[in-house]
Amino acid sequence: MAPRLRALTRRTLTLLTLSTATAGAGYLYLNSGPAYPQTTHESRRPPPPWSPPPRSAMIDALKRSADPKRGEDDDSQFDILVVGGGATGAGVAVDAASRGLRVALVEREDFASGTSSKSTKLVHGGVRYLQKAVFELDYEQYKLVREALRERRVFLQTAPYLSHMLPIMLPIYKYWQVPYYWSGCKLYDLLAGKENMETSYLMSKGKALEQFPMLKSDGLVGAVVYYDGQHNDSRMNLALILTAIKAGATATNYCGVTSLRKDPTTGLITGARVKDYIAGGEFDVKAKVIINATGPYTDSLLSLSTPTHKPIVRASSGVHIALPSYYAPTGMGLLDPATSDGRVVFFLPWEGGVIAGTTDDPYDMRAHIKPQEKKDAYLSGDDILPRESEIQWVIDEVRGYLSGDIKVRRGDVLSAWSGLRPLISSGAAGGTEGLVRSHVVKVDEGGMVTIAGGKWTTYRAMAEEAVDEAIEVCPGLKAKAQKCQTQELKLVGSEGWDRNMFIGLIQRYGLHPEVARHLSSSYGSQAWTLLSSTTQTAALDPHRPLSTPHPFTHSEITYALTHEYAQKPLDVLLRRTRLGFVDARAALSALPEVVRVMGDTLGWDMRQRAEEARRAEEVLRGMGAGGRVEVGTPSSGEGWLRIGELQRRVCALFGCSALLRPFSGAATYPRALFEPGEIEVLREVFGQYARVSGGSGSGSDSEPGFGVQEQMRMPVSMIREAVRSVAGLGYAYDGVRESDFRYILREAGLSDLPEGEGRVRDVDFEEFVEVRTCFISHSVFALLIRAVSCSCSCSHKP
Ligand SMILES: Cc1cc2nc3c(=O)[nH]c(=O)nc-3n(C[C@H](O)[C@H](O)[C@H](O)COP(=O)(O)OP(=O)(O)OC[C@H]3O[C@@H](n4cnc5c(N)ncnc54)[C@H](O)[C@@H]3O)c2cc1C
Repeated sequence: MAPRLRALTRRTLTLLTLSTATAGAGYLYLNSGPAYPQTTHESRRPPPPWSPPPRSAMIDALKRSADPKRGEDDDSQFDILVVGGGATGAGVAVDAASRGLRVALVEREDFASGTSSKSTKLVHGGVRYLQKAVFELDYEQYKLVREALRERRVFLQTAPYLSHMLPIMLPIYKYWQVPYYWSGCKLYDLLAGKENMETSYLMSKGKALEQFPMLKSDGLVGAVVYYDGQHNDSRMNLALILTAIKAGATATNYCGVTSLRKDPTTGLITGARVKDYIAGGEFDVKAKVIINATGPYTDSLLSLSTPTHKPIVRASSGVHIALPSYYAPTGMGLLDPATSDGRVVFFLPWEGGVIAGTTDDPYDMRAHIKPQEKKDAYLSGDDILPRESEIQWVIDEVRGYLSGDIKVRRGDVLSAWSGLRPLISSGAAGGTEGLVRSHVVKVDEGGMVTIAGGKWTTYRAMAEEAVDEAIEVCPGLKAKAQKCQTQELKLVGSEGWDRNMFIGLIQRYGLHPEVARHLSSSYGSQAWTLLSSTTQTAALDPHRPLSTPHPFTHSEITYALTHEYAQKPLDVLLRRTRLGFVDARAALSALPEVVRVMGDTLGWDMRQRAEEARRAEEVLRGMGAGGRVEVGTPSSGEGWLRIGELQRRVCALFGCSALLRPFSGAATYPRALFEPGEIEVLREVFGQYARVSGGSGSGSDSEPGFGVQEQMRMPVSMIREAVRSVAGLGYAYDGVRESDFRYILREAGLSDLPEGEGRVRDVDFEEFVEVRTCFISHSVFALLIRAVSCSCSCSHKP
């Protein structure tokens, strides 16, 4: 009996242990994932409105800090002056201000105009860095992944409206890679520990194609899906700036440090000379410690402090392109871990479109500085534009993993941008992809604290370290500063926000659901302030779209000016709204209205309006508005048009309403559009120039019936003449230059048709139609640009 009892007890114990473990694992599984803010009654009501102080008040506070009439002990002097208003600088300002320190931040251009608006928008540990950590036994990479995974959770919780969880698929084309990628993703989950979002999982080929129908199916064996975070980088940057201001900091854009002030006896830095690029003039700002958070420009500021210092940052350029939304499903990203040259490419849904990138190429900033007379010339963030070869590389990689029937074209690129990674140099020459993305904090002989490198994801931890160091450098701050608060500190817009808040906005303001969702996810609970600060008139709806079909609204222009320190059209089009990143063409079409509103509000005269418009147009064109900006883009004029006038002029140029449609109505992607009856006209023309396949017969001898045309082909050499004759029928294909024509053939995929022995290449009817669509998308843009430029000289002249 006794041994039987013992066995029973052993079995019972084993069972009990197993069921407890299963129940525990089940509980953990069911409770995994990010903690979304609870839906509360509060999020259905507008919170008390909050408006930051105007820019002029910030400038006054900066000037007061060095006012000689005030004594040394006066509390108008700052504890910390942060130089640089990107992710790192803004994070430092939040950290220091929330500890109770007196903080100032100056940014030479707009907040986030540098790298921080041009990232891949991922809040991630970095699976590729984990791969390096494991295979190269690199402890630095391992530490970076661990830290970033921990920070990922804090990031998503402190700014829940600006960031969210995103499943990312790794397609697998070889069976042996299944255990490799699966175990890699599991290790990623494991490293995140309790900070993990959702656990990764394996998918069959069928399921992968169901989720991602655009994926190349040939040879696909399955996929692994893992989770990371995604965010709206420039708005996140702005939320940090506003949070710092709310916590008492003084922060201003378009104010740059031109030199540093030192105590002649100790050699320690006591402040900086600052130039106001909006109002003009220079003034001193006094601070106990300066924190250099200038990203790729770190060495320039270090040179002001120690002219003989050795550079610590190596810039590496990363290019992204934006494509129309139909190239990827809305809720799933894709990672190609093995591109043609070993770099990775992300392909992610973002802000209603799809973004793809990135490259990793060394970048010599000095070589790109425009020759200017002024000695303090620098390369502006907006001037760092993608190279054509980099854009082509991303397109080629994207084509490689999409289904063969989908041909992503150069003309599909709605926008493209380049950002500079401030990588910490190892001192060795060569490529930058091997450099670790971790950061350094260092103090130079003048007492300036420099924080450089790192990632967007780790901005908070970097800021904490930099402020700790500043407190260390300046013992006077120790007594004053509290402990770091930022693990729990919610950013402006997060209080009272939850994922259903947009329903309240619809119910109160009658917004279109897409607009309400956009406002909620861009402004958080500040969306209430935005909506209540604009008044609806019978004639004009302030929430009408800035450029259809995108959800950005007119009211955002005014709000950006009154509540978010926008000073230039690109601040509105690129960084307050993200229109220029999602679709540079649409941003170009919205530019006249933005210039008008800004000009009226900020009191710009006609000359300034023209200059601001010219500058914005230059950058938007550089971002690829229209897909091929080097063709048919004459230099800009000196004036600017209102959009209606612009459209009228393009219309007059073309005499064809179909060609106008992409810029006036709901459609932004012109290549899918045909006028009623246009296909029939094309069929007729094709029939006139084509010949029966095989070389015998000629199109003109045959009746242009559908069945016959399927066997008929037209020599490529005849296309030009054929499209000219379409122009004669009322469709505008005329006046296309030879270089444009070659480009159009390439876009239509015809330049790579195999050329037989002495045979002339020929095209069938469908390919002829393809040429026509490429003509339209190319010509509309080229002619829009011409229309803009030719009309600039005569508009807005007093
Ligand atoms: C292509 C690319 C993709 C990336 N993707 C990701 C990603 O998905 N996830 C991630 O976590 N990280 C990513 N990163 C990294 C991340 O974007 C950067 O680490 C981060 O944005 C750097 O911020 P920063 O503030 O240091 O630099 P910046 O954003 O460049 O800010 C520096 C600022 O200093 C200002 N400045 C310079 N000199 C002066 C002066 N004298 N006076 C006043 N102001 C001055 C500049 O105008 C600039 O605005 C990516 C980086 C690149 C390039």
